[in-house]
Amino acid sequence: MGSNAITTIKNRIFADFFMPSRLGEFEQLLKCALEHEYRTYSLLQFWRMTEGEKKLPPGNTLLLRHDVDTDVATAERMWEIENSLSVKSTYFFRLSTLNIQLMKRIEDAGSEASYHYEEVATICKRDRIRSQQEVQNRLQDIRALFARNIKQLRERTGLPMRSVASHGDFINRRLGIRNVVILQDLDFRKRVDIDVEAYDESAMRLVESQYSDQAYPSFWIPSNPTLAIKSGTRVVYVLVHPRHWRTAIKENLVDDIRRLYEEMKYSI
Ligand SMILES: [Zn+2]
Repeated sequence: MGSNAITTIKNRIFADFFMPSRLGEFEQLLKCALEHEYRTYSLLQFWRMTEGEKKLPPGNTLLLRHDVDTDVATAERMWEIENSLSVKSTYFFRLSTLNIQLMKRIEDAGSEASYHYEEVATICKRDRIRSQQEVQNRLQDIRALFARNIKQLRERTGLPMRSVASHGDFINRRLGIRNVVILQDLDFRKRVDIDVEAYDESAMRLVESQYSDQAYPSFWIPSNPTLAIKSGTRVVYVLVHPRHWRTAIKENLVDDIRRLYEEMKYSI
């Protein structure tokens, strides 16, 4: 094994099991935005304010999105921090991280909780689909599963879920096909009452500067958003994942093992 691979494994072990909480840093980021008079909105609120020919709201905007891939407890801590600062944001939950009580609390406070969907990946893993063409051939089944899931989620949560965001799984990267293909059919989108997908051009067109958190040791792609906030960038978009802010040993262990198991199952 090369020294790069060993460093990667060491970093992963530290990130998954030993990293001290970074929630204080998360709070500082939000406080910095508020000190610089940034306003915060959910993605759906911002999209509704700016869709079509409508202009940007006054002042600077921070759009904060959480993809809750794992670790709902840390998502909840992040939510409590935001709520204490009256920050609005968006949380997307996978079927595997659903927490209806928390989702309702998020919406009741004026933020947004919705669905982090992955039906392309689910069916590809289940049926061992090997090519993009096979995915295209199965799109009807994939869309039917999405329609069933979003309907059940709306019934269970009582939430509108008019915006959704695609999850990225190892299988999406392996096949080079994203879950967003599900919603590229506009008639289907209408039928399932989805107003906006987080990666839509109409949702992202006014974003001036975009950031995503990342695992230890780099933490941010392309850089820390605090710099953009301090320099007064008009619309700053920040995507975060709870996993990168506090270690949840049990959840990370389960997730690492599940990922290995899924890859092995798919490969044989
Ligand atoms: Zn995700």
